[in-house]
Order: sequence, then structure tokens, then C-alpha cells
Amino acid sequence: MPYPPANTSIACPFCRQPITIQVHQIVDVSEQPELKQLLLAGRLNSFTCPHCHNTGALATPFFYHDPDQELALLFIPMNISVKEADQQKMIGRLTQQVMANLAPEKRKGYLLQPQQFFNLKTMVETILQADGVTPEMLAKEEARLNFLQELVDTTDDARLDDLIKLHDADFDLTLFQLLTSALAAAATDRQRAEFDRVQHIRDRALALTTVGQKIKQQQIVIEAFTANPTRENLLDQLVAAEEAEVREALLTMGRPMLDYPFFQALTAKIDAAKKDSQAEEEARLTALRKEILTTRDKIDAQTQAVMESKVALLRELLALPEADLDKTVKARLGEFDDLFFEVLTQNLQQAQQSDPQAFAQLQKIGDAAMRAIQGTQPPEVRFVNTLLQIDYPNQTKELLERNKQVLGPEFIAWMEGLVGELREGGRTETADRLVQVIDQAKEIAGLKVSLK
Ligand SMILES: [Zn+2]
Repeated sequence: MPYPPANTSIACPFCRQPITIQVHQIVDVSEQPELKQLLLAGRLNSFTCPHCHNTGALATPFFYHDPDQELALLFIPMNISVKEADQQKMIGRLTQQVMANLAPEKRKGYLLQPQQFFNLKTMVETILQADGVTPEMLAKEEARLNFLQELVDTTDDARLDDLIKLHDADFDLTLFQLLTSALAAAATDRQRAEFDRVQHIRDRALALTTVGQKIKQQQIVIEAFTANPTRENLLDQLVAAEEAEVREALLTMGRPMLDYPFFQALTAKIDAAKKDSQAEEEARLTALRKEILTTRDKIDAQTQAVMESKVALLRELLALPEADLDKTVKARLGEFDDLFFEVLTQNLQQAQQSDPQAFAQLQKIGDAAMRAIQGTQPPEVRFVNTLLQIDYPNQTKELLERNKQVLGPEFIAWMEGLVGELREGGRTETADRLVQVIDQAKEIAGLKVSLK
């Protein structure tokens, strides 16, 4: 049984108004794995003040229990002034509660001496170490984040360029990925200034660093291919690309085009070089053909392995009792990607005619996955998703009217930004629908309707 959170009233640390917060005093990983993710992300017992809209996390005692790792940890924040006797009482009460919830054979000794932490960071490190994350890995990660912060804090553009050049060796693929995630986070949180700053840092790093130059080259080649995705163009780009990584990226994107006509065209190029007695070019193209074949097989093997893992995941979910479905989905949220939904859709199509029971079960899995994914999205993203799913114009009008207070100019502008993103992603129909919804929202909010 999951432990229900307790309601606690506090004064908002920002505006001092009284607010009520849901506080988790027990984090049991076997019951509510999503709480572990919140804890690791620094968002356990977090709140958004309904008055001033500031966000914070309440430092409050809690018991962390992971039966698989036999971890029983207790967090007691430094700033809390509780008498030693009361503290012991609280430890006793939480331990009892966890014990009472366990089957007798699972009530083990480690639960009686929970390790105490006064510092949340040390506690998180202990949890990560049990997961196999070493202190060296953590230190490297922290250094990376500190460096990123240093970059963001450097407001002088000339100094920023110097800093980037000085740290050329630190700009590896992971750091560029981190910059990309920081961009995505700023976009989701609608932090315009932060978004612009990180984008500027990324642009400069792409221009000034060794790895950045490589990424940029790769982007140029990939864009040249996606602008004109034909077999001939794929072959031309492959022949022109100097870096093996770029060729691999091209082959990954152009995999469906690696068919008989493609290889015929390549062979024709080799033959032409031979005929013109260009021995060097002939050897280069022959080596390229070999490389393409090897890379193609590698890509296929990777795709196959990923597909198999998704099929295995689906099989595992089908074998679960229904009551455990949501919990398991939440614990493995990261595995529910486009490929998983592709596998799910295929199975749904197969089951539709032949096996109504399996069909119903697969639908439940799909629903649970969608629920879990939407649960992690910010409220405004969920709101827009709902608007796009219900019927236009009547249901959308009704929902917009009920949420009239959030339809400020800023929110409308953010939705308009989404339209662009949807169009870039090729989702024209959804973009068109969102434009209609935005017009409706403007009308309801009393803002001027845009002229199209
Ligand atoms: Zn407040």
C-alpha cells in the first residue's frame, strides 16, 4: 500500500502567506518509485505557492526505504529544532509504520537502525552509490554542472569566448547534450532570458571548440540530406563526407534508402572510376561500399535489439496483475518512447481481430503509459494537450472558459510558439487545430483575434 502524504500548513517562505503542502514522510521505493525520482531531482515535498507562484521544496524529516537494496535512511534537516527525545519518537513512529506495512518475512534488521542524514546531498549520494553511481562519476557530473553555471553567469561576451576556448577539451558530446537539455528545460519553463543565454553559449561553443566544429559539420551535411532526401543525394553526401561519424549519422537517417538501386548507383560510380583509370578514387569508393555495408548491419542489429527490448517490456507488462501496472509504468517511465508505442500499436492491430481480451489489456497498458507521461508534464503542457484532444469548438470553448484566468498574453504567446514547433515537426493538422484554439482563447480572454 502506498503511504498517503500528510497535509502541512506553513507560511510561504517567499510571500509569508499561509499555504498547505502535501508532505511525504515515508518514501518507499517498492511502493512509490516515482518519489525516488522526485527526491533525486530535488523535488520531493516541493510546492508552488498559489499566491506568489514561487516554487520551493520543504526541508522536512522523512524515511527512505528501498527493500531491494536494503536501504533504510532517515533525513532530519539541520534547521529543524526538535528535542532529542521527540526526534527518537519520530524515528520510532516512522520505522513502525514501515514495518507494519511489510509482510513478516520482509521485516529485517536493517530497518531497525536507519542511517541518519542531516544533509540531503549526502543522502542522495548514498542512494546513488547503491545504484552503482560512484563518487568519481558524481564529482565529474558536478564539475560539469558548475562549469555550465559559470558559462551562464559570464555576461561579458568576449570573456565568454575566452572561457570557451580555454576549456576546449571539456566540450565533449555530453556537455553539448547538457546544453541542449538546458535549452529544452528553459523553453518548457518559458524562461526567455535563460533560453536566449544558453542558446548564445551553445552557438559560440559550436563555433569555437573542436567537438563543436565537428557537430556543426555534421549538422550541415544532415541538413543538406534532409532538404532533399533522395538516394542520389544520400550517395553524394556520403562520398563527400570526410568524417566517419558524419557518414554514420547519414546512414542512420537514410537507412530505408539503402536498397538495391542505391548499391547499383554506387557500383556504377566505382565502375566509372575504373574506366577512367582513377585508381585512387576507385579504391576509395570500394572502401566506402564496404563501410556502408558494415554500418548498415550495425544499425540493423541495434534497431533489432531495441525493438526486442520493447517487446520484452510489453510482455512483462502483460504478465503483471492489473493493480501493479501504474506503479511499474511509473518506475520505468524512461523506456516508454516512440519505439515502445510503435510496438504497442503493432500488437494492438494484431489483437484487434483475433484476441479481444489481449486487445483490452494492451489498451490498458497504453492508457497507463499515457497517464504516467502526462503526469510528468508541467500543468500548462497538460492543459494544451487536453485542449487538442477534446472536440472543437464546443468542448474546447467550455474548457477555456472554465480556465479563463490563465489565458494571459504570456500564455497565449507561449501557445503561439508551440504552433511553430508543431509545424517544424511536420504535425500540420495539430498546428492548424491549435491556431483555432488560440483564436478561441483570445476571444474568451478579450484579446484581439489575429488576422490570418
Ligand atoms: Zn508565496
